[in-house]
Amino acid sequence: MSKYDVVIIGGGPAGLFAALELAEKNSLKVLLLEKGRDIDERTNIVSGLGGAGAFSDGKLTLSSKAGGHLAEYLGEAAAEELIRYVDKLWLDFGAPDEIYGMGEGVANIERRASLAGLRLVPLPVRHLGTERCPAVLRAIRDHLTNRVEIRTNTAARRIIVDDGRLTGVELDDGEMIEAKYVIAAPGREGADWLMQQSRALGLSLATNPVDVGVRVELPNAVLDNLTSVLYEAKLEFLSRAFDDRIRTFCMCPQGTVVRETTGGDDPVITVNGQSYASHDSPNTNFALLVSTQFTEPFKEPIAYGKYIARLANILSGGVLVQRLGDLKKGRRSTPDRIARGLVRPTLAEATPGDLSFVLPYRHLTGLIEMLDAMDKLSPGVASDHTLLYGVEVKFYSSRPKLTAGFETEVPGLFAIGDGAGLSRGLIQASACGVVAAREIMGKNTA
Ligand SMILES: Cc1cc2nc3c(=O)[nH]c(=O)nc-3n(C[C@H](O)[C@H](O)[C@H](O)COP(=O)(O)OP(=O)(O)OC[C@H]3O[C@@H](n4cnc5c(N)ncnc54)[C@H](O)[C@@H]3O)c2cc1C
Repeated sequence: MSKYDVVIIGGGPAGLFAALELAEKNSLKVLLLEKGRDIDERTNIVSGLGGAGAFSDGKLTLSSKAGGHLAEYLGEAAAEELIRYVDKLWLDFGAPDEIYGMGEGVANIERRASLAGLRLVPLPVRHLGTERCPAVLRAIRDHLTNRVEIRTNTAARRIIVDDGRLTGVELDDGEMIEAKYVIAAPGREGADWLMQQSRALGLSLATNPVDVGVRVELPNAVLDNLTSVLYEAKLEFLSRAFDDRIRTFCMCPQGTVVRETTGGDDPVITVNGQSYASHDSPNTNFALLVSTQFTEPFKEPIAYGKYIARLANILSGGVLVQRLGDLKKGRRSTPDRIARGLVRPTLAEATPGDLSFVLPYRHLTGLIEMLDAMDKLSPGVASDHTLLYGVEVKFYSSRPKLTAGFETEVPGLFAIGDGAGLSRGLIQASACGVVAAREIMGKNTA
């Protein structure tokens, strides 16, 4: 049986940054397992070395106020310091210098947003662009080669705990790996798997809210007054009808809408967005998400999100697209109506249809209210031609009970990143990895 000090499950930013920290500061024997392919051979957007980050838009949100729960565990000051530390690593491996969202004009947008009934959350953002992101992650992989053993196309099947004591990991092919510490960083792709493992191990799980909504696509010019200053405008709104919190997420100026297959062994097709730093599209897209915290006895946010995504899949074979004007008029978009529209869909394969067969009334009402509010800030947002793709679902995974070092109730077993419900973005996912690695190094030298 192979023996390691640390086994990391998942080769996304969380797993890779844990490996970087362990490799730099210690002489521990580390194995990183990635169930997908190596970065240069990947075909899957969310699985493979580099994780969902590899083909992501590469917006590094440099604040503990967005993208995860880091500050809840570490306190705001320590979380901000850690974010500066991981940002420096991203820079060292090739991220560009420029930062958006701090220049002149931010206060003015904030004021105009409040007049429109919206709240702007101003955040510094470093933008890599979808093609530079794999280059940085490739540089990290190259740096790790010879320092850490990386096995791609290798999935962890089971975390093995004997009598309350962590002993290692069983691989999909039945191989047993012995380990003193295991860091589970399986991303959204492996969130179901981690939840099953946590249940089997009797870990306490907190239910995160589920965010369901659409991806909105419109001409660049409509949002230019925001994106030229902020790159990404994080706006929040409280729906009048239901008092739900609705927010913009992952704004992609000059970007394209993409299809995403997610959900492990029981996948669904959802929608996402990306921007290339060098290839300009005429459109900007962003997600508009309704966040709902359900009450007892609800414990299945992932199942709920998948159920809604599956409705869109059943109706369209994948992703639905509808013009806002058609939705408001209570009619489906047809290929002809889309073709006559002023916004050309960047996701050409999306099926014209009717989102009111998919999203609950509560969600649709809130989304339309927020688009109308945004129209006051950036005229044109609520145009009849604005495209809505459905559905976008953010699976924020059940969160196991964790210490401030992200150790679970099983000593030696750590759970980090998007899959553990801790992060929702590249920077906080990377930072989680550093925290777990430092905790392990602290224990090992104690
Ligand atoms: C299209 C897209 C655009 C995005 N844009 C941005 C953005 O601009 N800015 C931003 O901050 N964030 C963005 N994100 C989110 C960001 O990519 C994630 O927050 C981040 O990658 C999470 O890191 P992670 O390491 O926790 O998980 P992931 O990156 O999801 O990596 C987890 C890895 O674990 C592997 N795995 C799962 N289960 C197992 C198993 N049992 N055994 C072995 N391996 C396993 C998976 O194959 C995967 O490669 C985007 C995501 C997508 C999909």
